[in-house]
Amino acid sequence: MSYKAPVKDMLFNIEHLPRIDQIAQMPGFEDAGLETAQAVLEECARFNEGVTAPLNFEADKAPSTHSGSTVTTSEGFKEAYRQYTEGGWQGLQHPAEYGGQGLPKTIGAACGEILNAANLSFALCPLLTDGAIEALLTAASDELKATYLEKLISGQWTGTMNLTEPQAGSDLAQVRTRAEPQADGTYKIFGGKIFITYGEHDMADNIVHLVLARVAGAPEGVKGISLFVVPKFLVNKDGSQGERNDVYCTGIEHKLGIRASPTAVLQFGDHGGAAGYLVGEENRGLEYMFIMMNAARYAVGVQGVAVADRAYQKAVEYANERVQSRPVDGSVQGPASIIHHPDVRRMLMTMRALTEGCRALACTAAAAYDAAHHHPDAEARRQHQRF
Ligand SMILES: Cc1cc2nc3c(=O)[nH]c(=O)nc-3n(C[C@H](O)[C@H](O)[C@H](O)COP(=O)(O)OP(=O)(O)OC[C@H]3O[C@@H](n4cnc5c(N)ncnc54)[C@H](O)[C@@H]3O)c2cc1C
Repeated sequence: MSYKAPVKDMLFNIEHLPRIDQIAQMPGFEDAGLETAQAVLEECARFNEGVTAPLNFEADKAPSTHSGSTVTTSEGFKEAYRQYTEGGWQGLQHPAEYGGQGLPKTIGAACGEILNAANLSFALCPLLTDGAIEALLTAASDELKATYLEKLISGQWTGTMNLTEPQAGSDLAQVRTRAEPQADGTYKIFGGKIFITYGEHDMADNIVHLVLARVAGAPEGVKGISLFVVPKFLVNKDGSQGERNDVYCTGIEHKLGIRASPTAVLQFGDHGGAAGYLVGEENRGLEYMFIMMNAARYAVGVQGVAVADRAYQKAVEYANERVQSRPVDGSVQGPASIIHHPDVRRMLMTMRALTEGCRALACTAAAAYDAAHHHPDAEARRQHQRF
């Protein structure tokens, strides 16, 4: 089934709800007016309608596979990801200082909807990278930022979040992965994580895992959890890719949906310890991880709009094709496509209204995020941060 990005509806929201012309007055967003939004969204639609959407159905039928410690993604994903990074899509809403395009989330969120509607399994990889970037931007040392941000923002490397363990799902107080401090200031990480989205794959040169773990002697419960960067490949002093780190994928989950997105089981430290680098301060890991989780939560909301819109488009297509019964108003003599029946139109309009309403909400929330980060007035920033 083809997908057509609702660029016109998105631009209407961007222009009239948060008023993109006002966002463009905030420092750093001077080039982000309506014209920019239109150019970016049209290009985003062209890329996803032509490249990621056509892979969606086939990839679901032939999902990612695991062998040894490697994961091979569905046919076409690697090439699509190469084009995605070449187009600069990963860096769209991230700071120019690290190679991003520095555009507002108000535009980035609309692009996120298009990507997710086109191919949700594919979209999960950039979604996790976006969250890792936000967490590092907010909480990491300058050294970690210098080592990881540019490559994540360009999409050359991807990011993951590692919270869940077999005994620690909703209850993160049960996290048992441990971090042993080393003389050089780094840590060795030991433990296992499950359900890690894109925890292993073949689309990027390196994978930067953000991992929750407990340092020896830390308090019990969530107040004793720290956050570590654990790269799949170590990074040399000059920034080049170094040796393989001690983190390996031992399997991927079998799922009912989003089957082309590999949800990995990861083992850390079975061969002497995985090198880990502390983010921020010890025992504040959950607080930092929440930056990433909140980015992911927002993105999952956008995913909902994306899936609803794709379903609506499919329903309209079907209603136009399926011929059944004579319309009650006599507009067609004999059987007509079911879109002529008032009750079918009512259902389609309900679908569309709900989708548009949620899209408007997502647009407004993205604008609030932009204001919270870029508004020149500190008091206004605080107000927006309550969102
Ligand atoms: C496709 C997929 C991708 C994922 N990707 C990642 C990832 O990238 N990184 C990562 O770390 N994790 C990931 N997860 C794991 C996800 O975060 C966990 O599934 C989630 O935290 C819930 O844990 P659980 O599955 O163990 O469920 P449980 O914690 O066992 O919960 C089972 C049920 O009990 C309910 N429940 C639990 N506690 C309470 C309570 N106190 N009050 C009321 N109800 C409660 C839950 O809501 C749920 O309905 C992923 C999961 C899936 C399915």
